[in-house]
Amino acid sequence: MSDRHSDGHGTHGFETVAIHAGNTPDPMTGAVVPAIYQVSTYKQDGVGGLRGGYEYSRSGNPTRTALEENLAALEGGRRGLAFASGLAAEDCLLRTLLAPGDHLVIPDDAYGGTFRLISKVVARWGVDYTVADTSDPVAVRDALTDRTKAIWVETPSNPLLGISDIAALAGVARAAGVRLVVDNTFASPYLQQPLALGADVVVHSTTKYMGGHSDVVGGALVTDDQELADELAYHQNAMGAVAGPFDSWLVLRGIKTLAVRMDRHSANAERIVEMLSRHPKVTKVLYPGLAEHPGHEVAAKQMRSFGGMVSFQVAGGEQEAVAVCDRTKVFTLGESLGGVESLIEHPGRMTHASVAGSQLEVPSDLVRLSVGIENAEDLLADLQQALG
Ligand SMILES: *Cc1c(COP(=O)(O)O)cnc(C)c1O
Repeated sequence: MSDRHSDGHGTHGFETVAIHAGNTPDPMTGAVVPAIYQVSTYKQDGVGGLRGGYEYSRSGNPTRTALEENLAALEGGRRGLAFASGLAAEDCLLRTLLAPGDHLVIPDDAYGGTFRLISKVVARWGVDYTVADTSDPVAVRDALTDRTKAIWVETPSNPLLGISDIAALAGVARAAGVRLVVDNTFASPYLQQPLALGADVVVHSTTKYMGGHSDVVGGALVTDDQELADELAYHQNAMGAVAGPFDSWLVLRGIKTLAVRMDRHSANAERIVEMLSRHPKVTKVLYPGLAEHPGHEVAAKQMRSFGGMVSFQVAGGEQEAVAVCDRTKVFTLGESLGGVESLIEHPGRMTHASVAGSQLEVPSDLVRLSVGIENAEDLLADLQQALG
């Protein structure tokens, strides 16, 4: 993957762009960190005389602009847009891309809230969808109809850590004249660059690795297609689920350490995977870094490292999986992921309860870890005592 990004000051490495794009020192005070413009409206110099284009904070706010410029630079897109949550970003994207009668191809493993939004909300407006195994580009091609407008992919997927070949799917999408959407939440732009691989739009829950500290809920869209960017920006303002100034500031701050955090998340996850793979009470470990993972080669090709998300199945079924989640002390039992602190959860009863009974149902003996950046020995010891 390319390691050079344009950040408005020339071409720099990812870490430099993460810290500097959108973070221009304040011209008046020299403050090196963008201010939190906690404001709704702006004085006009005569009717229509806007200073810097700002008129109302739903349409635009300087702190949000700083984040949006940063997001665009990190994903290598022309335009970034920041939202109040990942689902707000997805809603804006779906209602921009689709109209009644249109069709969408969605993955057979995805964030439960994404499936709920598509199957329970968007479907009521006359949009239908086909669930496909997105790790198989042929299956995706076979799911296309003459009404299909987009292919939606999550890679690595939540919670089964499935891998889809972004470049191959971009080829399928381009041949059919449909758009490819990639939810890049699990990888983050440090580990994976979907636009460079041919995707049309990147989706993020910035709540996760981008924010990185479990202190903010946010979402983002990034595209390199100017026409689509204009349509998305129009809908962002028309629908109004924008990121507030303080939330934008928190995500912008989190992103500065994204690269070092992701390196440690991946390194800690690899240690844990090694231990779990040998543990007698673990029946299966799901991690794209494992050579036996069916998506390993594709992941190795399109990701810098394999990330901090690990799922595993335990002997003893659902009861034992729930018991393991209850016994950890360093891993906190909770939903969400991507923060500096390690989290453990039971997807079947927690994050993915909304997909029960659907084609996206997850195994009941599955445990999901969001491996944090604590001391690796402490994490290993905690899991070992919890497994018993
Ligand atoms: C959390 C998550 C979302 C939804 O984002 P919110 O910020 O919770 O609205 C979407 N996709 C993935 C992969 C997620 O993990």
